[in-house]
Amino acid sequence: MYRLAPFALLLGFWAACSPAQTDQNPADATAVAPKFWRGNTHTHTLWSDGNGAPELVADWYLHNGYDFLVLSDHNILSSGEKWFPVRDSNRSRLTSTRVKELQGQFGVGAVELRANAQGLQEMRLHTLAELRRQFERPGKFLFLQGEEITDQFQKANIHINAINLDQLITPQHGTSITDTLQRNFDAIEKQAQRQGRPILAHLNHPNFTWSMTWQDFASIRGERFFEVYNGHSGVRNYGDAAHPATETMWDLVNTARLRKHDLPLLYGVATDDSHEYFQWGAGKTNPGRGWVMVQSPVLLADRLLAAMDAGEFYASSGVSLISIQHTPNSLSLQIQGQQGVTFTTEFVGTRGAQLGVVLASSDSLTPSYTFQGDELFVRARVRSSAAHPNPYATGDPQMAWIQPVRGLGH
Ligand SMILES: [Zn+2]
Ligand SMILES: [Zn+2]
Repeated sequence: MYRLAPFALLLGFWAACSPAQTDQNPADATAVAPKFWRGNTHTHTLWSDGNGAPELVADWYLHNGYDFLVLSDHNILSSGEKWFPVRDSNRSRLTSTRVKELQGQFGVGAVELRANAQGLQEMRLHTLAELRRQFERPGKFLFLQGEEITDQFQKANIHINAINLDQLITPQHGTSITDTLQRNFDAIEKQAQRQGRPILAHLNHPNFTWSMTWQDFASIRGERFFEVYNGHSGVRNYGDAAHPATETMWDLVNTARLRKHDLPLLYGVATDDSHEYFQWGAGKTNPGRGWVMVQSPVLLADRLLAAMDAGEFYASSGVSLISIQHTPNSLSLQIQGQQGVTFTTEFVGTRGAQLGVVLASSDSLTPSYTFQGDELFVRARVRSSAAHPNPYATGDPQMAWIQPVRGLGH
C-alpha cells in the first residue's frame, strides 16, 4: 500500500499546486483542487464523561474553524434515548444554570426536560442524528460517527477510537496488552468489512497511566494510526526519564514495523480528547489543542478516510501548511507564514543504526529534504516560535507533524 502513496500524493499535490495545468485541460476544468480540512477525531460530551451537552460541543467546533468532528464517547454511540440528571451540586456536570444557558443559546424548545420517577429533573441528550440535522452543511461541516473503545488489560488502559462505524463495538478484552489491542482492531476491521465501508481506528494516548510500551503496539495488524499528540493534560505525551515520549515511540514503532513486522507505516494524529467546556486553561481538558488537516477535494467521510489512509494529512497544534510534496527522493513543505513568527522544520527519520534522529533542519518557509538513499523513512515536524494559546503543557509551542514517508533504506 505505502509504495503507492508517493504517486497518489504527488498527483494530489500536482492538482493542488498547479491550477494553470487544469486550465489547459478543459476536461478537468470542473475538477476541484484538494484542500486541507480541519477536524478533531477525539471528543467527549455528556454521553460519557465530558461536561458539555453534545450540541454545545458541536457548536464550539463549528464556530472555531473546524470542518469535521468526531464525538467519541467511552463505549457508547450518541444514539438512542439517554437522559442526564440535572443536579445543582459542585460535582454535577449538568446544573440548572447550564440548562438555562443551553436554553438561552439554542432556544427553550431545543432543551427537553422531564422529572424522573424520583422527581429529579433530567435532560435528554441530543443524538448524532439530531446534531447532524442541526449543524451539518454540505462542504462546510461534517460529523463522522465515533466511539472510544475503552478496554483494559490488568492496569493498562487500552483506548482506541473507531471512526465512521455503524454499530457499537464493545471492548473485546484479551490475554495481554498486545492481544487486547489486536482483538479490538480485529473487531473494528470485521465491522468495516460487514458494513462495506472503511472505519478509521487510532490508538489513543499510549502513555496514559503508563499503560503500554512501544513494543506493545508495534506489531498490531490493522493499526494504521496513533495519537502522537493528545491535548488531555493527563496523558503524558512527553514521557519521563523512564518512558519515551509518544513522538519517540512513533519512530521506534515505525522502524520495527518496516524492519521486523512487515507492516505499513503508522501515521500520527493530534487530537483534543476534550472533556471540559466551561473552565479554560492549564490542567483543563479543553477543545482546540490538537487536530488533523486532511487533504481532499471534498468534505465527505469516505474521501477523508481514504486520504488519511494514504497519509495525505498532517497533525497540528497550530502550524498550518500550504502544501506537502513527496517525490521518490524528496519531502518538501510549504509553511503558512505569519508576521513576526519563525518556523523551524526538522526532518526526522531512521537510517542504519540511527533510529528516529534529526537528519536535517531548516528555518525556511519552504523546507525540503533530499533522500540520501539509505533512509528507512523520513517525516517532518515544524515548530513555531509562537506559543500555543491554551497549551497541553506550559510553554508548548505551536507545532505540525508531517506523516513519515518510506525511503529505500533497510
Ligand atoms: Zn482515552
Ligand atoms: Zn478520550
